[in-house]
Amino acid sequence: MKEFSGFCCSDMETNVSKSNLVYYNQVFDEYGLNVIEDNVSYILIEYCPWCGERLPLSKRDLWFDELEKLGFENPLFESNIPEKYKSDAWYKDEQTGDGSVSSK
Ligand SMILES: [Zn+2]
Repeated sequence: MKEFSGFCCSDMETNVSKSNLVYYNQVFDEYGLNVIEDNVSYILIEYCPWCGERLPLSKRDLWFDELEKLGFENPLFESNIPEKYKSDAWYKDEQTGDGSVSSK
């Protein structure tokens, strides 16, 4: 994960980037504990286990809503979704207002 500095504390940063303990899903802006057994799923967490800070609310539902509006019925399994929805760009764009979403 490149150029992401929005972690609540250095413990979180270390455990996301250097250990396999916490998974940060940049697309949905959500944190989870990796399930070691299957190495695929993770258990969502709402608070940082180290500093106790409230973590960002998952944008998972919003992501599905937006892609549904664009006509993708099952976006997780479609490979041709717009590029920005494959990273954090889809919500970063809207927050800063420099995206191409609606104003131009
Ligand atoms: Zn923290």
